[in-house]
Amino acid sequence: MSALVTQSLVKRFGGVLATDHVSLTVEPGEIHAIIGPNGAGKSTLIGQLAGEIASDEGHVLMFDEDVTQVRTHQRAQRGLARTYQVTQLAREFTALDNVLLAVNARERHNFRFWRNAHDDATAMAKATTALATVGLGAMHHATVGTMAHGEQRQLEIAMALATEPKLLLLDEPLAGMSQGESAAIVALLQSLRGRYPMLLVEHDMEAVFALADRVSVLVYGRIIATDTPDGVRNNPEVRAAYLGETV
Ligand code: ADP
Ligand code: MG
Repeated sequence: MSALVTQSLVKRFGGVLATDHVSLTVEPGEIHAIIGPNGAGKSTLIGQLAGEIASDEGHVLMFDEDVTQVRTHQRAQRGLARTYQVTQLAREFTALDNVLLAVNARERHNFRFWRNAHDDATAMAKATTALATVGLGAMHHATVGTMAHGEQRQLEIAMALATEPKLLLLDEPLAGMSQGESAAIVALLQSLRGRYPMLLVEHDMEAVFALADRVSVLVYGRIIATDTPDGVRNNPEVRAAYLGETV
């Protein structure tokens, strides 16, 4: 059973075909990277998978269940977690509070209007574990706005992990990072390999080729190749369309 399947997904914005019959799979434990130039449709695809963008055509399956009509929150409850290209953190809150918010958003109990998250031992344990996993174990009480950019990206991954996902969607987790910060996130994602299937959108080729089991190349909304990193690197159509002489 695949963790994720898309069947001929389409999204149009007016005359723009942002995703053009995209079909791909993410297998259990796999890191599947999506690369492609700016405007190729990568973020649109992630939005369609998360349920934030309604698809015009095609299907999305999670663990063999067709979730095409399933709303964002219900996809999250089925184990889908995502991070954003642009950070979505509550900057005036602490790292711990951001993670607790993510846990509560996932678990939102209808019978409770409000609860003090700090008194919820289960939520606290999930948050603490996730912060330790990403290397922020000593930063529970840091205010997000005072944290380095790389630490904020680590925090976003912690928020995804704290929901105990079955599938991770990562939209450019290395965006805007220094080399040292990138290396830390690449090492973190390596350490998570096999624990979560991941669909990873990323510009940084070195990182993609180091992390990915398979790479799909998206150009003008279309997947022009899906292959191993070496296969993609040596694919003439990919080189012509996207990678040019730079690989
Ligand atoms: P990428 O993430 O690969 O850079 P995007 O998915 O952001 O690409 O964008 C794909 C195409 O869809 C681009 O042409 C972009 O301008 C267009 N697009 C994305 N979001 C919207 C939107 N909300 N409204 C109109 N056009 C959009
Ligand atoms: Mg994008």
